[in-house]
Amino acid sequence: MRVMKVTCPECGEKAVISKVTPRDRLATDIYCACTNVECGHTYVVNLTFSHSLRPSQKQGEASLSGIT
Ligand SMILES: [Zn+2]
Repeated sequence: MRVMKVTCPECGEKAVISKVTPRDRLATDIYCACTNVECGHTYVVNLTFSHSLRPSQKQGEASLSGIT
């Protein structure tokens, strides 16, 4: 499993994720805090769905059941 690494857009130092708030099924707000004590920047990063590489098997089942 990979861990998401976040860097501060102001100073480039490592930031920590303090809160994750899903907005809907395709978008999440990630609240971040810079670990550089001289910076102290807190900010929100948006994580959004982009596109599928392979369709969901569940979606396929739903589509097939809709045909019959
Ligand atoms: Zn910073």
